[in-house]
Amino acid sequence: MRNGKDYYEILGVPRNASQEEIKRAFWELAKKWHPDRVPPEKKKEAEEKFKEINEAYQVLSDPEKRKIYDMYGEAGLKGNFGEQYTTTYNFTNFDEFVKQVFGEDLFGFASDILDEFFGIGRERTKTQRKRKGVAEEKQKIILELTLKDIYQDEDVEREITVEKRNICPRCDGVGQVEVDTCKRCGGKGMIGFTRGFFSFSQTCPECKGYGRKMTTCSNCKGRGFTSKIENIKVKIPRGIREGDILSYGNIDFVVRIIPDPRFVIQGDDLISEITVDALSAILGDEVQFILPDGREMKVKIPEGTDSGTILRLKDAGLPRKDRKRGNMYLKVKISSPKNLTQEEKEELKKLKERIEKRTKYH
Ligand SMILES: [Zn+2]
Ligand SMILES: [Zn+2]
Repeated sequence: MRNGKDYYEILGVPRNASQEEIKRAFWELAKKWHPDRVPPEKKKEAEEKFKEINEAYQVLSDPEKRKIYDMYGEAGLKGNFGEQYTTTYNFTNFDEFVKQVFGEDLFGFASDILDEFFGIGRERTKTQRKRKGVAEEKQKIILELTLKDIYQDEDVEREITVEKRNICPRCDGVGQVEVDTCKRCGGKGMIGFTRGFFSFSQTCPECKGYGRKMTTCSNCKGRGFTSKIENIKVKIPRGIREGDILSYGNIDFVVRIIPDPRFVIQGDDLISEITVDALSAILGDEVQFILPDGREMKVKIPEGTDSGTILRLKDAGLPRKDRKRGNMYLKVKISSPKNLTQEEKEELKKLKERIEKRTKYH
């Protein structure tokens, strides 16, 4: 009774093949002949072949069409639909094709096929997992500390107000909750449409393939997590440095040191500048210096100190975990004495001439 193309032969399945077998055969052939999957020189051939396979599948996978085809052959379908048999065909890329054709049925497939679909079939689950990840992910909070904070000898405790996150119990971190079955696709997540003789399916635009109507979770307002303002006592240990992380349960405090214009941090050491009066630099002196924690320190300036000299203050740098400290390096900047009286200037002038005369003819 059959005439025209033999769709069973094209798919290589027996006439009593189950839907599962037909689908599997189509999948195998589509993998082989999809124009995306062949070398360029075989593209033309593949397009023809793929059209044929697809045609066969569209008919045999539709119980109604299959029945007509079984009874009247290809001609029966033509008569039934009263349409031109050839349809203009736009090849979607392979992934898109898989989604369109198999998307709705993925979970009905055998597990080995599911594996091949991995990344497509499990997309929804993956999306959910990803959303949940947002809430489960450790919260990173920048903890700003001053140089004074980290200069302390002992651990410092600090109360910090944070927005603590918990996975939303209502939507389980997805941010959306399912309400009714999607009316547009009847819960299948895919909708079919007919173009010419062929019927296609695509992801339902209403529910984005979820099959159910999703609505933003009112409990977390779609964020997937709920938050609570909490005060946390954070212990800032001695020896902490920029970029260190202090973990408190689900929260990671990332240390950031607010730059201090007076000091440059270099590892465990601190670099700064000390201004020394010219006369003190010549004669040697003790000059006051304010440490990062506000304490005053007397710095010994040796006699005849030049501008740019680096003075080392041992153990005045940053505290380390091992109870030691880095050093402080001070670059000497010499300033001239201001507000000298006329008399003082005269004296200095005389002194200068005397020194010059002595060093010149020495
Ligand atoms: Zn839908
Ligand atoms: Zn929620």
